[in-house]
Formats: sequence, C-alpha cells, structure tokens
Amino acid sequence: MTGTNQTVQRFSGKTAIVTGAGSGIGKATAIQLAREGAKVALFDLNDQRIAETENEINQIFQGVSRAFDVDVSDEARVAKAIKEAAAYFGGVDILFANAGINGAWGPIEDMRLEDWEQTLRINLNGTFLSVKHTIPYMKKKGAGSIIITSSINGLDRFAGWGASAYSTTKAGQVAFAKMAALELAKFKIRVNVISPGAIATNVDESTKISDELKEIVIPVEYPEGSQPLADGPGQPEDVAELVCFLASDASKHITGARVRIDGAEALL
Ligand code: NAD
Repeated sequence: MTGTNQTVQRFSGKTAIVTGAGSGIGKATAIQLAREGAKVALFDLNDQRIAETENEINQIFQGVSRAFDVDVSDEARVAKAIKEAAAYFGGVDILFANAGINGAWGPIEDMRLEDWEQTLRINLNGTFLSVKHTIPYMKKKGAGSIIITSSINGLDRFAGWGASAYSTTKAGQVAFAKMAALELAKFKIRVNVISPGAIATNVDESTKISDELKEIVIPVEYPEGSQPLADGPGQPEDVAELVCFLASDASKHITGARVRIDGAEALL
C-alpha cells in the first residue's frame, strides 16, 4: 500500500464490503475505511459511480479497493461477488450493508405492487442477502462486524406522508438486525444498525414519485432548523465516522444496537 496516510490504522489487515459504495454514505465510509487501513470491496449497480469511488481510493491508497458490479437484490450476483471479494482480499471482516433507495412514494391506494415490491427487494432483500452470504466468511475468521443502514423513518418519525414502503423496509431492517445479532453472537459476529436523519447525498434520485406529488411531498430546500444540532443536513463523512466506530474493536461489546445520527431531527 502506498500513500501519505497519517491516520490511525484501525483496520489494518481487515477486509470490508461496502454496499452502495458508489455514492453518499457508502462512498464516504469506503474512503474512511481505506484511510484507516482496510481493504475495501465496493458493491454498487451504478458502474460509473463505483468506478469513480474505486479510482478515488486507489489514487491515494493503491490496490486497497476493488469495484464489483452488484445489484444487492440479486442473490446469485451477491453470492458470487462476496466469494470473489473474499478470495481477492483474503476473507471478510466487516460488512456495511448500506445500499438502499427511497423507492415508491405516494398514497397507498395508488401504489403499484411492483413499485412496492421493488423498494422491499432492494432495501430488505438486499440487506438479507448481503448478510446471509457474508456469514460463512466471518465464521471462518471467528469474528466479524456487520452494520446496516436503516433510517429514523419508520421508527422515530414518518417523513410527512407517502413513505409507507420505505418506512416499512427501514423498520424491518432493525428487526432483522436484532435477530441476526442474537443468532450470530455465539460466532463473535456483531450486528448493529444506524438510523440517519437527512444526510446530503444523491438519495432523492432514487425516489419513484409522480411529478405532481413531488412538489408537495419533497421539499426543494432543506428546511431550516430541521436538525437542531446542525445548520443543514448531516454529511456522509459524519455517518462514516459512526460506521467505522461500529466496525472497529472499540465497539467490541456492542451488538443489536441501533444508533440514531440525525442532529436531533427525530426529537422534534
Ligand atoms: P445515495 O443514493 O447517494 O447512495 C446509494 C447508493 O446505493 C447509490 O450509489 C446506488 O447506486 C446504490 N444502490 C441503489 N440500489 C442498489 C442495488 N440494488 N444494488 C447495489 N447498489 C444499489 O444515497 P445514500 O443516502 O448514501 O443512501 C445510503 C443508505 O442510507 C440507504 O440505505 C438510504 O436509505 C439510507 N438513508 C439515507 C438518508 C439520507 O438522507 N441520505 C437518510 C436515512 C437513511
């Protein structure tokens, strides 16, 4: 590995898989993990964005990241990519199951089943499949840390209205993580969930909503005061710091926990 990296190498010798690493929270986390010594397998279905993340990391830390073209809702591709990543980097120690979409947005009575199902497929099946196919590699290592990106939506608050599919998936991820934490504790595999409030990313591009509803439901400007602790939405780098804490041995006694990271948005 080359580069002028002065940061503490908390993840030296470790391999991480980051899903949704082409943009936003996943990208910032992949960069932070690499900065702290991890080798990082970057999973995303957006070829261009994932290549950009790979180049950005490899320009500073040569050879520590590799992009994998993966749709997390496709079991065969998830299983194949995890197998390849484990073979390439020498196992898997950390999984950040983060890929997700806003998906179908609107009144329940108008929502098409296929749009509802697409949101569930990516956010819920994608989480399940990423975790399922990582477990054998973590068992082989005798330890592991899994972090899942949920949201404050679905548990703490409900994003105005129209987010029934999204909120269902985000609440479901928390139940899944707690069950997984219980099931996997005996293998020293920890599973924790993060619940971000609004974070400045490209996630709004993934909202499936009619033009007329868009004007009403999604604010163009981020409303002032929505996060009492901040001047605007949180930054992906803020979330990356939390993920790295949960991925590291500093959190070795924490599993089945859910941590909000929202500048107090959910308390309003
Ligand atoms: P983003 O759109 O910037 O990044 C998400 C990435 O996931 C994109 O690169 C996208 O291509 C990828 N992706 C989407 N579907 C995929 C699939 N099927 N397979 C593989 N990759 C896929 O958004 P973000 O805000 O960084 O989102 C990351 C996670 O954070 C999501 O789970 C999202 O629900 C959650 N979240 C975001 C916010 C926010 O305000 N940004 C708040 C709460 C939770």
